[in-house]
Amino acid sequence: MKIGFIGLGNMGAPMAANLVKAGHEVTGFDTAGVTVEGVTTALSAAEAAKGADVVITMLPNGAILRAVAAEVIPAMTKGAALVDCSTVDVESARAVAADAEAAGLLAVDAPVSGGTGGATAGTLTFMAGGSEAAFAKAKPLFDIMGQKAVHCGAAGAGQAAKICNNMILGVTMIATCEAFALADKLGLDRQKMFDVVSTSSGYSWSMNAYCPAPGVGPQSPADNGYKPGFAAELMLKDLRLSQQAAESADADTPMGKAAADLYAQFVEAEGGRGMDFSAMLPRFEKRGRG
Ligand code: NAD
Repeated sequence: MKIGFIGLGNMGAPMAANLVKAGHEVTGFDTAGVTVEGVTTALSAAEAAKGADVVITMLPNGAILRAVAAEVIPAMTKGAALVDCSTVDVESARAVAADAEAAGLLAVDAPVSGGTGGATAGTLTFMAGGSEAAFAKAKPLFDIMGQKAVHCGAAGAGQAAKICNNMILGVTMIATCEAFALADKLGLDRQKMFDVVSTSSGYSWSMNAYCPAPGVGPQSPADNGYKPGFAAELMLKDLRLSQQAAESADADTPMGKAAADLYAQFVEAEGGRGMDFSAMLPRFEKRGRG
């Protein structure tokens, strides 16, 4: 297949490299001038998109996605698919899909989970929104770049699934970290706390698979000085997107809001930028109630 790949950052570069390894012809473009072995470098997004069967975007936010889409949609061949794998607001995802469909293209919003490790290993999970035909066209590429692709519904459904999942993740990570900090102050051994909670009703992915306490549970960023992993500022981005969506849908999300506020404070005022999102635990350790 002929593929245009726009946005060759931490995630996009290894994803594009995996498509090349699988034998696809990939032309890429990134404003930072990034080049990827085996990917033909284009001089613009429109040039990367021209003649492609599928154009994949992996960009920082909705505003940039909208600008790139406005440039590539007119350059694409009718019947081709525009597949956005970035994490963006639901409204931008729906607006871009509507513009693409109006131009005779297929459109999929397909944000991912699995981080840079998953992008490199080709083990991402894709959560996709769009028509059956659009999903079917993108699916063989999802199978190369990932291990699972769920068709969640119409345009925007992929982004909706992503931000709802990450709202749960942000909230449960905070709950896990504050519980560990309380347990410390109550004189409870961390290993005992893990042994109980990981097999009791307080268990979660944050506790069981990504334990924020160093030396406890499986290997996680906590065992590596809280080097990300999944950076606190990326969690903040996703929590803000979930609050933006909750406002536009009039959904009451008090825990999601509290998590967004706490990660904002951590990232913007307490040195959390560049730390893994599980570094909430040392943050709580240092604090009292005041
Ligand atoms: P990144 O900042 O490393 O990459 C984004 C790339 O887009 C950069 O190389 C940048 O130069 C390029 N870019 C910006 N504007 C452009 C334009 N107009 N045209 C072409 N290229 C442009 O970010 P990333 O970590 O690769 O993340 C990409 C997306 O994936 C984000 O939406 C992020 O939220 C999401 N995501 C990231 C992770 C992660 O662990 N890094 C995990 C899941 C989802």
